[in-house]
Amino acid sequence: MKVLVLPGDGIGPEIVAQAKKVLNALQKDGLDIELSEAPLGGAAYDAYGAPYPEFTQKLAREADAILLGAVGGPQYDQLDRPLRPERGLLGIRKDLNLFANLRPAILYPELANASTLKPEVVSGLDILIVRELTGDIYFGQPRGIRVNEAGEREGFNTMLYSESEVRRIAHVAFRAAQKRGKKLCSVDKANVLETTEFWKEIMTDVAKEYPDVELSHMYVDNAAMQLVRAPKQFDVMVTGNIFGDILSDQASMLTGSIGMLPSASLDQNGKGLYEPSHGSAPDIAGKDIANPLATILSAAMMLRYSLNNEAAAVRVENAVKAVLAQGLRTADIYEAGTTKVSCSQMGDAVVAAL
Ligand code: NAD
Repeated sequence: MKVLVLPGDGIGPEIVAQAKKVLNALQKDGLDIELSEAPLGGAAYDAYGAPYPEFTQKLAREADAILLGAVGGPQYDQLDRPLRPERGLLGIRKDLNLFANLRPAILYPELANASTLKPEVVSGLDILIVRELTGDIYFGQPRGIRVNEAGEREGFNTMLYSESEVRRIAHVAFRAAQKRGKKLCSVDKANVLETTEFWKEIMTDVAKEYPDVELSHMYVDNAAMQLVRAPKQFDVMVTGNIFGDILSDQASMLTGSIGMLPSASLDQNGKGLYEPSHGSAPDIAGKDIANPLATILSAAMMLRYSLNNEAAAVRVENAVKAVLAQGLRTADIYEAGTTKVSCSQMGDAVVAAL
């Protein structure tokens, strides 16, 4: 399997270096992967004059999976929009047709105090939000701002999902649920919006192919409430682009520690781009203090979803749990009574725990 590594900008190279240490250790134990590296974002602009240059495109298309650090930085903010680092990220997602975004929100018991919610509500939390990423009201046509017949200005967007779009995200969500607690909650607003009434109908139909997964439905307003009231009731949640945008950020904050949260964006065939949920953190770049665990956990997701190596994924996740249990903490998750370590020390500790 070919794995392309895109360190990116800011803390990207530092955190990706730690994930590479973990992958290299697994290679020594027989993991059969071939690693290559390319620039994306600001680093790509510096090297090739474009945020997603042809050199990177070629390797990205050939790869089975891609591991990304993060892109962006204040030195690129004045560039024309098409040249900005964020365009590199949008470009690669579009180029590879990555329509399924998987964002787990896991709260390790050792970090329960990092959440703004009561520890008993969130301790042990382990949910996965599957968000459709390329359709819905964010892309539906027509859209715009116009003057209506009464002469008043108005803004309008179109919420739209085709059957094939709903079916393919449904399959991703059901398959993910099969690999976890076998419970899937589909979030909609079927009482008001026809698009999501249709979504619910397709989800119910696809469920017939997954008799081992228990499907439930929830209105998005209730889901938002339940996520803070009793989030541990959920295993996998699946929803459209706009609801998923909001709910996945809400869910990630239940854990309180942005340096811990991985993510995956998958295509139809399971090829994926894996990256931490946070950005390039220019404020702490180059200081060797960033938390590399979100990136290491992204590599674990890559092993699970694109490289189909559940055993190696679990091994990496257990190693992360072990270093937390040892009391090792980077600055962002440090609290009294624990041991503060640097980014590279954290990477070494995970490798040792493997
Ligand atoms: P950010 O996530 O980079 O940082 C927010 C805060 O969290 C900062 O204080 C930062 O120091 C801290 N933080 C983030 N990751 C951390 C880690 N691993 N360990 C310790 N602390 C961490 O968000 P921002 O400051 O809004 O954005 C900075 C840059 O990142 C911008 O250029 C933005 O466009 C870009 N960005 C990129 C992505 C991506 O590559 N997917 C996502 C979001 C933002």
